[in-house]
Amino acid sequence: MSIKEIEAKSILRKHKKIDSWFLSRYGMNLYRGCTHNCVYCDGRSEGYYVDGEFGKDITVKVNAIEILERELDPKRKRTSFKQGFVMVGGGVCDSYQPIEKKYQLTRKALELIYKHKFPVHILTKSTLIERDIDILKKINEQSKVIISFSFSSVNDKISAIFEPGVPSPTERLKTLALFKKEGIACGMFLLPVIPFITDTPKLIEQAIKKAVEIGLDFIIFGGMTLKEGRQKDYFLNVLKKHYSHLAIEYANIYKQSKWGEATGEYYNSINSVFNIIAKTYNMPTCIPINLYRDVLSENDLVVVILEHLDYFLKMEGRTSPYSYAAYSISQLKESLSKMKGSFRKIKGVGKTTENIILEILKTGNSSYYEKLLRGGKSTLFEDSN
Ligand code: SF4
Repeated sequence: MSIKEIEAKSILRKHKKIDSWFLSRYGMNLYRGCTHNCVYCDGRSEGYYVDGEFGKDITVKVNAIEILERELDPKRKRTSFKQGFVMVGGGVCDSYQPIEKKYQLTRKALELIYKHKFPVHILTKSTLIERDIDILKKINEQSKVIISFSFSSVNDKISAIFEPGVPSPTERLKTLALFKKEGIACGMFLLPVIPFITDTPKLIEQAIKKAVEIGLDFIIFGGMTLKEGRQKDYFLNVLKKHYSHLAIEYANIYKQSKWGEATGEYYNSINSVFNIIAKTYNMPTCIPINLYRDVLSENDLVVVILEHLDYFLKMEGRTSPYSYAAYSISQLKESLSKMKGSFRKIKGVGKTTENIILEILKTGNSSYYEKLLRGGKSTLFEDSN
């Protein structure tokens, strides 16, 4: 393993619009590269330009805290911060990978986040996050914290092959249970499930059962991508060693798409399996609204609900206009409540969407959304524009 220390120019990354999965407006990566070395990690693909050998070499942004201190200071900003969670993790590194024990950049960043009263969402695979339970409880009391752990399954043996550098799923679940007991919202990203290995109904159900047992607030599900080049080559080598009989199945679903996606039929089939099982367990398949209603701006609340609705319909194999409407709303300069009576002028907004927006503005929620979040059927007709 080699460690390269660099001086970063900026740390806080502003999203162009609210990220509906993480509910974030800002994100940060304090390291580049990740020694967790998950076999399927797309950080390995050439498009991310991670220096050195992925899984072994790490770049540390040694001046990150100094820069972040400046970036989070509202007095230094011309425009005010957007409301939303600050996302720590995701991308091409895990903020709690082993190097964090030495540099403590994540801990120091959380202290700044607390100082400036931001809510935070953390996505990790590491139980090292327990070290920061004190500061996370303080942030949760002051603003809000969501802790998400990612899993490809809850099977320890399979995880040891595909996630060689991380604590086992059993240990991750224990950590999630600990944070739940402390009153912090927690979820599972069952993502990516590994084709023909962890995407079986049996393993999906096992994961959902575990999530229910410890009272997780949501599970977000997704399949795997394999980009041509380093990511795919590395993955297929490991596959060959442990599951050589699956080579043909993989060739059938990964057909050199630009973004490394598997075929639509494959994703539809696993989505449908997940959807049916999640419904049986009454498990929310997106972050539930009570965890973000008070955090987001009015427009962003509408955008997130519409994007989640679009997702629910896609999981049923249907299309919807909600994503287009959500994008148009995300570009508005004015708040929706000042535009009452003219919603239909917004691109993608028809009568049904207009009614959904009106209900959200009036009640802070959408009954249609609540129904689909808990696995109800989408009976509402959809806008045609
Ligand atoms: S923990 Fe996340 S970032 Fe790190 S190697 Fe695994 S998938 Fe990649």
